Order: sequence, then C-alpha cells, then structure tokens
Amino acid sequence: MQPTIHSKLPNVGTTIFTVMSSLAAQHNAINLGQGFPDYPMSEELTELVNRAMKDGFNQYTHMNGYPPLREAISEKIEYLYQNKINPDTQITMTPGGTYALYTALTTILQAEDEVIVFEPAYDSYIPAIEVNGAKAIMIELQFTDYSINWEEVRNKISEKTRTIMINSPHNPTGSVLSETDIEQLRAITKDTNILIISDEVYEQLIFDGKQHQSILKYPDLLERSFVCFSFGKVYHCTGWKLGYCIASEYLMKEFRKIHQFNCFTCDTPKQVALSQFLQKRENYLELGSFLQKKRDHFQNLMQQTRLRPLPTFGSYFQVYSYEGISDEGEKDFAKRLTQEQGVATIPVSAFYSSEKNNQVLRFCFAKKESTLEAAVERLIKL
Ligand code: PMP
Ligand code: GLN
Repeated sequence: MQPTIHSKLPNVGTTIFTVMSSLAAQHNAINLGQGFPDYPMSEELTELVNRAMKDGFNQYTHMNGYPPLREAISEKIEYLYQNKINPDTQITMTPGGTYALYTALTTILQAEDEVIVFEPAYDSYIPAIEVNGAKAIMIELQFTDYSINWEEVRNKISEKTRTIMINSPHNPTGSVLSETDIEQLRAITKDTNILIISDEVYEQLIFDGKQHQSILKYPDLLERSFVCFSFGKVYHCTGWKLGYCIASEYLMKEFRKIHQFNCFTCDTPKQVALSQFLQKRENYLELGSFLQKKRDHFQNLMQQTRLRPLPTFGSYFQVYSYEGISDEGEKDFAKRLTQEQGVATIPVSAFYSSEKNNQVLRFCFAKKESTLEAAVERLIKL
C-alpha cells in the first residue's frame, strides 16, 4: 500500500524558474528567464578555488564559516557601511541566500505568526513562511514604480506581526529602497517586537549612482534584523550556492541553533577562495558598473521592439510591458513567446499570490552581449 502524508505545501507546484527554463530548453529558446549569467565567472576566483583544493582545504571548516572569510566580510562592511560587525558572533555562512532566508524564518516563526510580504515577491518567501505554520500578509507594491505604500503597511500590522520582509535591489522589478523607506521602516518597528528580514542578495548590483540602503548601515535596525546575502548572484556563479546571514549577536545565536543541525557547515574551498578574493576592493566595487553596462546595452537594443520598459535601478532584471501587443495573460504570453519567438522570460504574475495581470514580463540581462543581441533580433518581430 502506498503510504500517504499530509502535504505541508498543498498548493505549491514547480517553481516558475524551472518551468520556464525547461520550456526554453525544449524549444531551443534564448533563455532570458531564470536569473543566471551565461558568461564566465572571474578567472581569478576560479584559480583561487582550484588552489584551495590543491592546498588541501577539503574538509569541514568551522560550523559558522571559514574564519578568514567572516573577517573579510566584516572588513568589507566596515569599508562600505561604516559599521563594525563581529565576525565571530554576527556572521554565519550558508549554502545560498535561500537557505539563509529560510533559516531566519524558521528561527523566529511560531504557528499563527504573521509575516508582512511585499509582492511581487521572490518565490521562496511564502512557502518558507507557511511550512513554518505562519501566515504571509501580502501587500502589493505600487504599479508601475513598485514602491511601498507605508500607510498600507501600518494598516496591516497586527499583534501577530512577527516580521517584515524587504528585498532591495528587488527581484523581479529592479526597484530599490530609498532612505525615506528606511525611515518609514524605522518609525513602524521602533519600540515594537517586530523583526526585519532583509534580502540583499543583489547588494552590489545597483545602478545610476544610487546607494544601496543596506540594513547594515543602520545599527538600530540591525538590532532587529536578519540580513541575507548570496555570493552566487554577485560573483556570477549561481551554481555555487554559497551565501551568508548577518544579525545581532542575540538573534544569530538562535539562527545557529537551527543551522548547526541543518547543513552544519558549507563548502570549504570556495570559502577559502572568497576570503582571498575579497581582499581586493575592485572585485566588489566594479560589479555595479559591469551590470549597468549590460542593462544599458539591453535597453538600447530593446528600443527597436514594441515592448516598453519599466525602470530598473538594480538586480539582474528589467520588467517590460507588452500592453498593446497582446491581450493575453502573462503566463500564456510568456509561454507563447518562448515557443513561437524563441525567447524565454518570466511572467511577473508568478511572483503574486493571487491572479494578477499587469501585462509585464521579467527579462534577465545578466547575459553576454551576443545573447542579448540575438534575443532582441527575435523580439523585433513581435
Ligand atoms: N533572494 C532573491 C531575491 C533571489 O533572486 C534569489 C535568487 N538568487 C535568492 C534570494 C536566492 O539566492 P541563492 O541562489 O544564493 O539561494
Ligand atoms: N533567483 C533566480 C531568479 O529569480 C532563480 C533561482 C531559482 O531558480 N530558484 O531567476
């Protein structure tokens, strides 16, 4: 007899990223959907990993992360945000940003707690909340600039609100939080028991001279926050699945209780390599301009098409409207674009909990120029 279980996520199917990447492969389409680069990662970093393996760094490292890497991260934070983070008590390396977010939620959530989530939201947030028995309280970002309506946040706060999740630079829209947003967040959480989970996996990928408003800049907010990062995204190696979480000593102590029995420790040679790579500031200071050139190139090319851009100030992504081209819903249109035009994208509606159709698609521009050019050649025909 087939044993049965009660699904913890009865309404969850396969993620849109896998769905669209599989469809792209099936139809030999150019894949501007799932967010990963098609250009090589840094040769220097690759060499450093090879060397670390040859030098014998192949066994478990410290449960909280290779100590020199935690020190390098702390130095980088002090340089970028003028804040001193204790590498021993406040930083934990994780197998990717998704894991850091999941562990932070698991650390703090009790059944029936409420979590404020802005949508469109990265697709792992709601399942990670629900699997912990808590409830996501959705607030829509304002179309078309995807800004936060803080009045609505105030109205949705209840006695059960445990945490607010923020994400800047934002996936899928490329919007970024401003200092005013941070002030609002401060005003709303001050003298409350509400925590913040800040998803900053696109930390360095910010454009047009804008400043990343990291929670790490604000010691009073960090006191109530888990801040999550991903090396895969910023260093063009999404397959590495390596990231980290930063929190106050008090919160991190609890985070580590969960972490130590989940993955315990992360890939050693990559941590050794990154600890050396981060010694050179240009290795992280030049990331924003590198990606901005790609965004600008893509935007220029896309002017030849009938798709209309919404602004993007960070991340790997740009949202385009197909209003006036088709009345189809986003998922149908994205599928047809993959099958007929040979270009895969992600329907932004996939990042909403309820049916939504703003007639917009997300394009990933973290691609070789030749890939972007070939994709636009196809999109011109629309
Ligand atoms: N948060 C956001 C907003 C993302 O786009 C991603 C995808 N990289 C992640 C978290 C997860 O990062 P990782 O691949 O390191 O788990
Ligand atoms: N973060 C990536 C994106 O938004 C995808 C990661 C994944 O496939 N789960 O495209």
